[in-house]
Amino acid sequence: MDTTDEFQIHLQRLPFKKATAIETVYALGNGHFGVRASNPLQGDNPDYPGQPGLFINGFYDLTALHYGEDYPGYPQNSQTMCQLPDPRFIVLEIDGLRSDDETFSVKQVDKNLNLKTGLLSEIYEITSPTDKTVRLTMQTFASQDDARIYGVAYSLSALNFSGNVKVIKQHRYTQQQIPQHDIDVRNVQRQSQLTCTYQEADHPTMQMITRKSQLAITLQVQPLKNDDQPVPKLTTQDQLPTYVTDFDLVPGIAQEVDFVYSIGFPHPVVIANADPDTVDQTLANETFSTLLNKSAHQWAIFWDNSDVELKGDAKLAKSIRFNLFHLNQAAGRDGMTSIPAKGLTGSGYEGHYFWNAEMFMLPFFIFTQPETAKQVLSYRYSKLLQAQQRAREMTVKKGVLFPWRTINGTEASAYYPAGTAQVHINADIAYAVDLYVRVTDDQDFLATQGLPLIIETARFWLSYGHYATDDAHHGRFVINDVTGPDEYTAMVNNNYYTNRMAQHNLYLAAHYARILGQTDNNVIGKLGLTTTEIDAFQHAADQMYLPFDPNRQIKKQDDTSTEKPVWPIAETPRTQFPLLLHYHPMTIYHYQVNKQADTVMSDFLFPEDQDQAQLKRDYDYYEAITVHDSSLSRAIFGILAHRLDEADKSYQYFMDTALTDLTDAQGNVGDGIHAANMGGSWLSLIYGFAGLEIKDTTLHLHPKLPTEWLEMRFKLWFQHRHIGITINHQAVILENLKGKPITIQIGDKQVTLGSERVTVPFPI
Ligand code: BGC
Repeated sequence: MDTTDEFQIHLQRLPFKKATAIETVYALGNGHFGVRASNPLQGDNPDYPGQPGLFINGFYDLTALHYGEDYPGYPQNSQTMCQLPDPRFIVLEIDGLRSDDETFSVKQVDKNLNLKTGLLSEIYEITSPTDKTVRLTMQTFASQDDARIYGVAYSLSALNFSGNVKVIKQHRYTQQQIPQHDIDVRNVQRQSQLTCTYQEADHPTMQMITRKSQLAITLQVQPLKNDDQPVPKLTTQDQLPTYVTDFDLVPGIAQEVDFVYSIGFPHPVVIANADPDTVDQTLANETFSTLLNKSAHQWAIFWDNSDVELKGDAKLAKSIRFNLFHLNQAAGRDGMTSIPAKGLTGSGYEGHYFWNAEMFMLPFFIFTQPETAKQVLSYRYSKLLQAQQRAREMTVKKGVLFPWRTINGTEASAYYPAGTAQVHINADIAYAVDLYVRVTDDQDFLATQGLPLIIETARFWLSYGHYATDDAHHGRFVINDVTGPDEYTAMVNNNYYTNRMAQHNLYLAAHYARILGQTDNNVIGKLGLTTTEIDAFQHAADQMYLPFDPNRQIKKQDDTSTEKPVWPIAETPRTQFPLLLHYHPMTIYHYQVNKQADTVMSDFLFPEDQDQAQLKRDYDYYEAITVHDSSLSRAIFGILAHRLDEADKSYQYFMDTALTDLTDAQGNVGDGIHAANMGGSWLSLIYGFAGLEIKDTTLHLHPKLPTEWLEMRFKLWFQHRHIGITINHQAVILENLKGKPITIQIGDKQVTLGSERVTVPFPI
């Protein structure tokens, strides 16, 4: 097989044909923006089945939330990532008929995404109402080199005629969203209100302003140099700046026109008006291929750091790469944005950030792209003030409460039992900060941003929880009225995961405050920390109540979880899943049924907490009541099955995780990728099959490959070393590619890794 094929996503091999799903799978992005790979003639025409659009990370409008009963503290607005005009869009004019006035037939012949270079190549056959067919070949990329740049090349040839075809580049509308018929609660369609003005005469520059959030962005389009090809003319049509390119086509000879979009960063309108984006004149000297090459070079660096090479299952290997590619496309890198649940590939979840970023996706970035991880954590730091205000709004006297779902840092969740009540988000952020610091040893980040995040989140627990006075809890520190990760159980006392994570958060606060306090009093002083408060963190953590069922000998999901009847999962028809789309929440809450990994998520994160027998009991109990209605679930069960040596089960969970979007297994990839699940596939490989664990500041591996594979290779950054790891069925091979010698633990063996490659044979 052609080795480069391992990086190609070919349309003919996809197991589905749904237009919206294809648009998502082939979406291109770079953390700043994302573009769905739609029919380029669709525009805002609802007669075609797609949902085209451009999304800009952090560019959202506020849309009023309406409640029948509006209680204090309910968010008044949702934040909706704007669906902006599709930069792929063109109008063809044949025999005086325009494709945006008449319906042309558009046949998608081929599509291929090269994951290695980020180049998407497509072929369409387009027939006019006068039966003239042209072949349109498109190439597009979202630059990894300059975040503003999106390149698009159109090449046309006539198939059954000779004559004139005009290619018109013009955007007649500002809203891109096309009304959907079957909407589910996870994909509410809220229309943002945009105004659009044109700033420059030379190069069409649209300034788009959101009505309520008062944010502005600019979109500039200009042709790229392409010798011997038709030259676009800038004119005004329908009072809009328009590029018109005349092609005099004859069969067999293709002609091309290339454009570059420069997609600005969102700014508050007042700032944008005081300092407007100017046209980037340097782009006029670039060609499509020079810009593409610069971007492809960055993709090469990405793959060098982040690839996971699997030998033995080509389809799976490709799917893994597809997931890593999309993860990279999804992550904000400017310190002002995070990673939306659907990346920048669709309108699902309105473009919100959840705990997904910290708990499911950040580990991948921390170990392979630490700079991106830092930027994503900096986003949380930049929202500390909003989180502090939210805590006060919830009458929590100290600390911060991060929003369950958000873009701008304020809470956007309209359903608090499965939203605001998931206060574990605070501890999730602290967990990610600690992981980042331990892996990167970025002491500067710790002192300036990490410590404030850890301390302020820990303060929340001291205020929100309390020492119990009833007999059942033996004076321990309890946290009542919360929702854990399992959204099918809400508003409970002492959710195991939440308490265990809060305990970790409190320990981290005490630990880092003491350590940093020894060397830098300023850091501690700035946060107003006292030894009394540090001791209070320690004490609450020591005294944290962790529910346990003595009869079943399992960790209890919450104080009353095991008292409820078990949902009859086997008797529930497949059509009734996901349960949340078919049953009132209270019906679901009435039973023991888990949407996703909850208590076992804690087993995953804290392997030192339990022995194998305990893990097995927890696993068996919770697996039996989990329906995996969230795509965040299977990866965690798979990793734990692996730790329990249940090879078949762990492999099945892993395959389901890894192939979710490339097979549209959940049937809703059209709304956007499942980015956390993609992160989960990396967790499964590295925390699962490679058995990664960080104990204090030492890297441990307990590798065991599935029998189905021959070999797995990947690289990790760890404390300024770049470590190459190859695992096969005979040995683990380690290389220290950069940095000083380091000691690593492989199974029970300590290995010192200098400049020489080290082979550790199995059994270890
Ligand atoms: C899951 C949450 C997740 C959210 C966004 C929900 O279905 O239950 O854990 O954060 O989706 O992906």
